[in-house]
Amino acid sequence: MYSKVSCANVIGVDGFLVDVEVDLSNGIPSVVIVGLAETSVKEARERVISAIRNSGFNLPSKKIRINLAPADMRKEGSLFDLPIAIGILSALGYIDYTEFYKKYVIIGELSLDGKLRKVKGALSVCLMAKELNYEGIILPFANRQEASIVDGIKIYPFEHLNEVVEFLRNEKRKEPFVIDSIENSAQDELDISDIRGQWAVKRAIEIAVAGRHNLLMLGPPGSGKTMIAKRIPGLLPPLTKEEALETTKIYSIAGLLNGDIIRKRPFRNPHHSISDIGLIGGGTNFQPGEVSLAHNGVLFLDELPEFSRRTLEVLRQPLEDGFVIISRANYKVKIPSKFMLVCAMNPCPCGYFGYGNCKCTTNQIRQYRNKVSGPLLDRIDIHIEVPQVPYENLRQENNRENSIIVRERILRAIEIQNMRFKDTNIKYNNQMDEKNISKFCKINPKAEELLMNASRKFNFSARAIHKIIKVSRTIADLEGVDEIKLEHIAESISYRILDKLNYDGI
Ligand SMILES: [Zn+2]
Repeated sequence: MYSKVSCANVIGVDGFLVDVEVDLSNGIPSVVIVGLAETSVKEARERVISAIRNSGFNLPSKKIRINLAPADMRKEGSLFDLPIAIGILSALGYIDYTEFYKKYVIIGELSLDGKLRKVKGALSVCLMAKELNYEGIILPFANRQEASIVDGIKIYPFEHLNEVVEFLRNEKRKEPFVIDSIENSAQDELDISDIRGQWAVKRAIEIAVAGRHNLLMLGPPGSGKTMIAKRIPGLLPPLTKEEALETTKIYSIAGLLNGDIIRKRPFRNPHHSISDIGLIGGGTNFQPGEVSLAHNGVLFLDELPEFSRRTLEVLRQPLEDGFVIISRANYKVKIPSKFMLVCAMNPCPCGYFGYGNCKCTTNQIRQYRNKVSGPLLDRIDIHIEVPQVPYENLRQENNRENSIIVRERILRAIEIQNMRFKDTNIKYNNQMDEKNISKFCKINPKAEELLMNASRKFNFSARAIHKIIKVSRTIADLEGVDEIKLEHIAESISYRILDKLNYDGI
């Protein structure tokens, strides 16, 4: 009495095929699971036995051996419950699974009464099943939405073990599940027109988003830094279907999907007390970190100097490569983590330097700012000041542009970059290296002269000069001109306030 069921294991963000083999024999009644199963999988034994009994099936006193193949791959998670149950019921003769073995992949967690529970990573498993030309996937009802965004594979969602058995006994009676196509236009984003005053800040944000430049905002408490940051995802182009799929996969693995897929660019805002693992991902039961949950969106670090230096150090790899490598006991996984980094900080420890009432010493202020210097600051192209807006300005202002208008301009600048970089391996101005800069950034002589004078005056490093040129490239793109002119360089220099503050003696 033997049976075989296809199911899957999720490692990192990818699904891998696993065969569940069940063999029944005479002997002391017992259930044994072999094949590099972690504790979370071994617990399946208890759940499956209860679920089978409580669904009205008889379990004879037999020795049940369950093998998860391939044996050299570590298996984690609760998604093996349902395929194991189906394997046992098939070996017992309640159903004949032989003809379905090459047809379906089965995943699902069981509760003791036989109900099916949502599993993590269902989307990754669907993509794998499609890749391997399976006809369909059988999974818990709660996973149906995320699964259904994969085209070309039939989705059969169920709520109870009994329903799965019923379906396998009489397959024709059920139609696969279908949802309406993805509507990306669901734009209930926060709008930039909610921000009163701050036109200079809004301009800097537009430039940052257009060239995908990482951004640091410096300003006193209550100046609206967080409110501004939250409106950045709405200025980015809508998620493409491809991007929606990538991001949904990560949320599926984290168990953070609420039935629906991810349609909006994520905004992640971790607290400064976050651990390295929380930020990067990992842990005994693998969880994607904030950098991956922000994939295709915005990672916002408020009160930047409060983050530990070591925590900020770990941001280097994702910022550089667009992915993180997580080392597990005997393998490594690669998780995508491409995001726009937006940071905010106060001008000094008390927050009010430059706004009266500041009691910090010069030394305290220097120490505070030094916390963010180094490798992380090297990856931030634009630093701006977000001042407190006087009450009169808030009252007087009208004609505020909304996000749709600003985004139109941003999209045009992105198009120019697409054309420029079509034969290279980069996409945005912020990714240009020295070679790209000399190739794509034609600077007119007057602008060049200004840049030289400014770097002497403020003692800009070579890195800072590169950033100024890259940002001025984006400013010229927003204007739709090829040559970088004086006013573009001048504006770009104004977005280096931390360099200039250091010069001023603080
Ligand atoms: Zn202060």
